[in-house]
Amino acid sequence: QIYYKKDASLDLLDGKTIVFIGYGNQGRAQCLNLKDTLAKHTFKQAPKILATSLNDKYATKCKEDGVEFTCDFENAASQADVLFLLIPDQFQPGLFNDRLTPMLKKHAVIVVASGYNYFYNKLKIAPSQDVVMVAPRMIGTSVRSLFVKGEGFPCFVSSEQDGSGQAHEWSLTIAKAIGALRKGAIKSSCREETLIDLFAEQALFPTVITIFEQAYVTLKKLGCSDEALCFELFMSKEPAEIFEKMADDGFVKQLVHHSTVSQYGQLKGALNYPQEILKPLLKEFSRVAENRVLNGSFAEEFTQLENNKGGVQGALNELYKQAEESDLVKGEARIRQRLIL
Ligand code: NDP
Repeated sequence: QIYYKKDASLDLLDGKTIVFIGYGNQGRAQCLNLKDTLAKHTFKQAPKILATSLNDKYATKCKEDGVEFTCDFENAASQADVLFLLIPDQFQPGLFNDRLTPMLKKHAVIVVASGYNYFYNKLKIAPSQDVVMVAPRMIGTSVRSLFVKGEGFPCFVSSEQDGSGQAHEWSLTIAKAIGALRKGAIKSSCREETLIDLFAEQALFPTVITIFEQAYVTLKKLGCSDEALCFELFMSKEPAEIFEKMADDGFVKQLVHHSTVSQYGQLKGALNYPQEILKPLLKEFSRVAENRVLNGSFAEEFTQLENNKGGVQGALNELYKQAEESDLVKGEARIRQRLIL
């Protein structure tokens, strides 16, 4: 199901205080979009918008943006009728459960932009409160720039907990206020958003990375050069163009932009892909979806990283070090040294 502007009203926001926890990537973009939308609507009592962040480094930016700012999380939370939780996912439970929950109004509406913490039960939320997800499928700068151009952006929307009996209406009101209904918002859930997001990150794109590396190894053995391979595989930006055409023209229909030889080769190859490769791949996809994502084992592993020496960043640095050992990355490094790009 897809929701459009006609499905939502901004009237629920009459006289309400809307608090943004975090003024980063999504926080600033969503706050400014909401501010601009509300400015065009007639309310009996104008809503109040308040932004907060860890320290006052956003105070000047907020002043320039015409947004009231405070570093006092607790005070801001105590005023919130609607609270956008827009700090990085890994820090949300700590801040929300320890400092915000005790201050929140009985019927506060909590807005998340990712399903992760709610799906894994990491947020302490009173049953009387509403939880809605309004999750743009774009980085914050695009959420803002598309809005300014008068356009919409793809977004998932759901009501997860209905303390007020109006959580569904709230989810659409919030989506409309940040400009997410202009092109339609897709009905989803925290479970679905988390599953698709983590599956893409942990199964789909690791497979893509691995396939590119193996293609490089195979063709390098057959005498192809680093330059030819890296440009053909990704540096020409041809794959980026293909994905753009998939979005515009269709997953398969975009093939018509390629030569006849290419169209025949791609379709013949895809439709006859060897079953002995597909079967284990599907098994691996199911393993990640069910035994990493849905059963919470990845979320548990990720939380534990904080307790390890070096924390999440230490683990990430180690993975980057290992990734640099791949033949493709080494070949790319060799040519980047020589290239004038
Ligand atoms: P950002 O990393 O941009 O958030 C930065 C904000 O969070 C700043 O105000 C920052 O303050 C504050 N912050 C950082 N660490 C802490 C902390 N430990 N305690 C309190 N505040 C902190 O986050 P995003 O906008 O990327 O993500 C926000 C939400 O949006 C997440 O749920 C994410 O999954 C979701 N989302 C993100 C998308 C994206 O493209 N980034 C896309 C769609 C959804 P300071 O700078 O002072 O540290």
